[in-house]
Amino acid sequence: MNPKPKKARLNLRIYFTLIVLAEISALLIVTSLMVSLFGDEAELTITLPTIIFMLVASLFIGYTANFLLSRAFFRPITRLGSAMQKVAKGDFSVRLDTESRIREIQNLYTDFNIMAKELGATEIIQNDFVSNVSHEFKTPINAIQGYATLLQQMNPENETDAECVRKILLNTTRLSDLVGNILLLSKLDNSSLELSESEYRLDEQIRLSIVLLEERWSAKEIDLDVDLDEIVYRGSEKLLAHVFSNLIGNAVKFSPQRGTVRVLLRKGNGGDIIFSVSDDGPGIPEHAMEHVFDRFYQTDSSHKAEGNGLGLALVKQILTVIGGTVDVTNNADGPGCTFRVLLPNR
Ligand code: ADP
Repeated sequence: MNPKPKKARLNLRIYFTLIVLAEISALLIVTSLMVSLFGDEAELTITLPTIIFMLVASLFIGYTANFLLSRAFFRPITRLGSAMQKVAKGDFSVRLDTESRIREIQNLYTDFNIMAKELGATEIIQNDFVSNVSHEFKTPINAIQGYATLLQQMNPENETDAECVRKILLNTTRLSDLVGNILLLSKLDNSSLELSESEYRLDEQIRLSIVLLEERWSAKEIDLDVDLDEIVYRGSEKLLAHVFSNLIGNAVKFSPQRGTVRVLLRKGNGGDIIFSVSDDGPGIPEHAMEHVFDRFYQTDSSHKAEGNGLGLALVKQILTVIGGTVDVTNNADGPGCTFRVLLPNR
């Protein structure tokens, strides 16, 4: 299908200027016509310098009038526009000063403030609800998980029973991970998480994340290429553990059997810390690039059952909270992709 041709859009300010100029020109033409028709009787003469003078004078008056008018006219709209942009980005605390001489603007700003306040209240209710429900889910899930583990340890007699217990455990673990992720995300959103900072070795934390994922990478016979600079870091160890385990876990998950995963940790020139993890899996399709960090977004249907689409959203949100960044690029020299994390220099 052919894309629709784009309509040329006039900037409102230019549009305004054109209207004022058109009005002045019309006035000039009518005046000249009247002078040429009745000039003799009224003893008026119109010469070329007079016309040029009138034209320049009207252009000047028109431009000044337009400048002043458009400033008064557009300033409230621009102010409203930037406030709306903040709301669109999720900042519902923005309010506009309703002291205006123009009644319409006053009403508009009052309505905007009501809208922002209501949206803020809805978000608080929604976040509290998500947080409370997730919390309530945790206890029964933990109980089911505990009993299923007990059953497994009792060595079920027949294969069918063993398989049932294994499936219960697998699914409760998934549910427990999902609830844990939702709860953590909602705490990060509400800024209700206490960021306890400590000084520790970042390279050792990453090594530990890799060891904890051993079952997964050894099952796939993944070749791990780990190159970590020795870096002492001050930050939230608990939160960063989520970042490393999610990114390395994904690299292992999306790598083919006997694939290679490269994990790198470096101190950049400006003192910033760069962590990257590359794999030789399918990479990220172009259309999904801008969505992979969205909540519940999953591109690869073959791995849907192994995740919940919250891992990368959590990684992104954690890094936003601690002042870092994360991005992804498909590898230029082969299959797969590379996730790169930048941690601020402290
Ligand atoms: P999931 O739990 O599904 O892995 P994530 O939030 O971690 O959720 O990832 C979101 C989606 O991004 C995944 O479903 C997958 O489609 C894509 N993705 C993440 N990491 C990789 C990777 N290393 N290689 C290819 N695709 C990836």
